[in-house]
Amino acid sequence: MANSGKFSSPDYYRSLFANAKMNSVLIIDPNGIILEANRAFLSSFGYSEADIVGENFSILFTQADQKKDLPLRELRTVIDEGQSFDNNYLVNKNKTLTWVSGESLLLTNDRHEKLILKVIQNIHAQKESEFSIIRLNNFNENILGTIEDGVIVLDENLKILKANRSFTQIFNFSDKDVSKIDFKAFISTFDINSELYNAILGVFQSKSNISRIQLEMDSPGMERRTFDISCTQLAEEGEQTRILLIFHDITAQKQFEKQREDILNFVAHEFRNPLTNVILNIDLVDEMLKEKNLDEFRGFMERTRVNAQRLKRLINELYKTTKLISGNFDPERSVFTLEEVIDEAIESVQQVHRQFTISKKGDPQVPLFADKEKLIQVITNYLTNAVKYSNGNYDIEVGCFLEGDSVVVSVRDYGKGIPAKDLPYIFNRFYRAQKTKNLEGLGLGLFLSRQIVTAHGGRTWVESEEGKGSTFYFSLLLPVSEEQAPE
Ligand code: ADP
Repeated sequence: MANSGKFSSPDYYRSLFANAKMNSVLIIDPNGIILEANRAFLSSFGYSEADIVGENFSILFTQADQKKDLPLRELRTVIDEGQSFDNNYLVNKNKTLTWVSGESLLLTNDRHEKLILKVIQNIHAQKESEFSIIRLNNFNENILGTIEDGVIVLDENLKILKANRSFTQIFNFSDKDVSKIDFKAFISTFDINSELYNAILGVFQSKSNISRIQLEMDSPGMERRTFDISCTQLAEEGEQTRILLIFHDITAQKQFEKQREDILNFVAHEFRNPLTNVILNIDLVDEMLKEKNLDEFRGFMERTRVNAQRLKRLINELYKTTKLISGNFDPERSVFTLEEVIDEAIESVQQVHRQFTISKKGDPQVPLFADKEKLIQVITNYLTNAVKYSNGNYDIEVGCFLEGDSVVVSVRDYGKGIPAKDLPYIFNRFYRAQKTKNLEGLGLGLFLSRQIVTAHGGRTWVESEEGKGSTFYFSLLLPVSEEQAPE
């Protein structure tokens, strides 16, 4: 074949035809009849020379492409313009299809005959991956369409690039309107303190962060609902940054928390008066027993009084806690040093958990003007958790350092750590990480700690790695002297 070809002199095309291993080459006459096929073509697509030489090259096209007249159109283009390109399926001998890209050139041999040289490349793998990306995109679209959370993607100008069906339904937009929404104006009605807006800006600026906030929102026809909104950066190398916002409706959960809070409030308030009355009567009865010399009964009365007093203390604690939960709490400020509160907290925890080594780092000689008892409660909460979730690692470090105009206190443990998925919620009331639900606790300690620190104008946060341990922090503004203390 190589020597008796249509090209009488060994030119470039002849050499391409004969030697190409990767490129399949066909020589076709202007009517589309296949005159020759090189070895690469035969081995790639399963044909023998006898199968195709003399056949019209349209047999290599699918039925659908034949119906669209693609073979004829290709011939016309080559003849009119000298060349033609195409991308389509090539039918293999065994009827399977391979996605190929073809380039046809019009040539004239030295017998002045017009011939078409068709070079075919197998781009099946590349095409398959394109298809799978498209399928994946469709798949993502389908998932987005079925989830109940509202999902949107924003660009740097806060333009909505994508919104799922739930988002448009929750906020009562039509699909068409979504791209026209002025997102900043849309959220400004709910986002009074610009929390969401700042969270979004924060995520745009830092390259990896995820931020989470809770916001009450409403829209025409929708009663006020609470959403947990997470902002995550979507950035591919070299691409523009985009932000993914997920609106998760937590109204039911909030109502549930409110009910629990109401029950606690009820217990705390309504049990106090009858109990005070019981204690008063115990004292009266005791007096009477004493007067009547009925000493054998006074032992019972004494035990009753001790238990009633204990119940009163518990209820008082609960009462104070409910005030903290509801945020009705004003710090009772006095002047003391940070060292005093750290030492008191360490001592109280150390007494009960002697096997732990609680060490101090940094210089806590910082004067504070704050609620001493409450700050002890915060550090004690952090320490008690460090003990509770220690996983048998007995070292705990309490640190303090100055940062700008604040002092930061940290409690570090080498225990269980907290899974990343739980971290954003850990300071929420009644929240307990899934993996620690077997350990006793109400899920209030961290919430109350945050309430106390926030009431002082400070911040609380945590860093943690599952299996390695956690560091809980809080910061307080300095200098906190009596005159400069924030109101
Ligand atoms: P409680 O300890 O009563 O459950 P907290 O509000 O103190 O409530 O803590 C909330 C949750 O945070 C805990 O249930 C636990 O899952 C997690 N947690 C708190 N501190 C730690 C810690 N030091 N190590 C690991 N997990 C912790």
